[in-house]
Amino acid sequence: EAHDHMTFCVFGASGDLAKKKIYPSLLALFYEGRLPKSFSVFGYARSKMTSEEFRERIRMSLGCRIDAKENCDEFMEEFLKRCEYVHGNYDEGADFEKLDQEMLKTEEGKKAMRVFYLSIPPSIFVPVAQMSSRYVQSKTGETRVIVEKPFGRDLESSRALTKALAAELSEKQTYRIDHYLGKELIENLTVLRFSNIMFQPLWNRNYIRNVQINFSENFGTEGRGGYFDNYGIIRDIMQNHLLQIMALFAMEEPASLDAEDIRDEKVKVIRSIRDIDIDNVVLGQYKGKTSGSNVFPAYLDDETVPKGSNCATFAAIALFIDNARWDGVPFLMKAGKALHKRGCEIRIQFRHAPGNIYADKKSKPISRGGGGTAGDSSNAQCNELVIRIQPDEAIYLKINNKVPGLGHKMDRSILDLTYKSKYSVGELPDAYERLILDVIHGDKRLFIRNDELEAAWKLFTPLLETIESENIPPELYPYGSRGPIGAHYLASRWNVRWGDTN
Ligand code: NAP
Repeated sequence: EAHDHMTFCVFGASGDLAKKKIYPSLLALFYEGRLPKSFSVFGYARSKMTSEEFRERIRMSLGCRIDAKENCDEFMEEFLKRCEYVHGNYDEGADFEKLDQEMLKTEEGKKAMRVFYLSIPPSIFVPVAQMSSRYVQSKTGETRVIVEKPFGRDLESSRALTKALAAELSEKQTYRIDHYLGKELIENLTVLRFSNIMFQPLWNRNYIRNVQINFSENFGTEGRGGYFDNYGIIRDIMQNHLLQIMALFAMEEPASLDAEDIRDEKVKVIRSIRDIDIDNVVLGQYKGKTSGSNVFPAYLDDETVPKGSNCATFAAIALFIDNARWDGVPFLMKAGKALHKRGCEIRIQFRHAPGNIYADKKSKPISRGGGGTAGDSSNAQCNELVIRIQPDEAIYLKINNKVPGLGHKMDRSILDLTYKSKYSVGELPDAYERLILDVIHGDKRLFIRNDELEAAWKLFTPLLETIESENIPPELYPYGSRGPIGAHYLASRWNVRWGDTN
């Protein structure tokens, strides 16, 4: 449906996400000529601010990737002319009517699409959805609503939220954002899989020995522990971001690139994941560390964290997909805070080349199931494909190669597609830019459908209930380390070695 104007409104406009991600993304889209010609941006929150103060806030907060580009300041001023702020309560009809009046002024009678971004704490999702759908829906065009995680904290609360939102908004209008789906290499995953003949036949249990999906942060909760403690790492990272990556990695080929076709395949593969056995789970929590004059705090030192909390800041889980493609292949997920480095990557370890004449005859034979990186560096090793999602986006494939020269020495070499060196596009667009643009275009491919969300919670809720009802204590690991030792025992139980950079 074509519109002549777009009105974009951020609820919770005074908050952190709005400042860090939403305004910079809108400005970058504007700079690149991706926004509709006629548009207006509204901020709504309880904080009292004039529109001029709101604009100043946007001006100050923009540390965006177009900063250094030509005419950035002019674009900024042009952008700010279209920004307005309205303050009000989140449950007051009259305040929302006032917002509607202000929007109508900027729309000047045009056929307007309205996009609402609920950048607010989950406790007020429902009233804001209610008020905005009753008082601020576009009367001339479509209204689309972007909802941020957390979508509940278990199956029951997620269902309740879905139901309450569905009373106000149709599924078609609802865009559940998972910003990992907006990342360049995640978008590329389906391209890599389905448009390269060399990967298509390998992408199954016959050739892939294990898959690792790793996420790490090199800092702790630092003051946000109060929020985090209510969720823990499994809800915060695994149930959403890492499971989404796994679904895109493992799903069958969709009938087309249509949003519903892709989401049908994702939900199907998530439903095929076997119930998680607690023996396949390792939980960790970081403890303090002193190194020279630097003191790194323990999770429990965070003032906002309840005393003695058993909340996991690290988890490793072995998952299995019970279908013909993946039967028996361990998918190892690992996520943690306060680890030795920051990053997110997928590692695919392939089986060894059968009957390999270059294998070291003297060393222990490599069983079909195990020993991925076994053998010393002069002998053939298993191939490994790494998709590095962040930072420094890259795809690289480890292969065996003969060291050039007269000898017969082999080494492990890398076919390397590092984005920075291959593509001179400068900084890649932020995930939020891509996702906001998709909402404007009405493209739902990268947003979570309600049945996907339900399947994700069905998988993780029994595990979370066991952890919480048994109050399972996490294994402590030092701040800045590689995480608890238990993660290595878990991997070796499945004959896996964590990839070498993790
Ligand atoms: P935030 O700063 O805590 O909250 C946004 C705004 O909501 C605040 O400026 C405040 O505005 C209002 N607000 C805060 N607490 C409230 C309460 N208890 N009752 C009513 N209003 C309240 O949140 P955020 O970090 O911007 O995140 C927004 C949403 O995105 C959240 O759902 C969060 O879980 C999600 N999220 C955030 C990030 C991130 O990087 N920050 C990442 C992923 C997802 P007023 O007081 O002015 O009304």
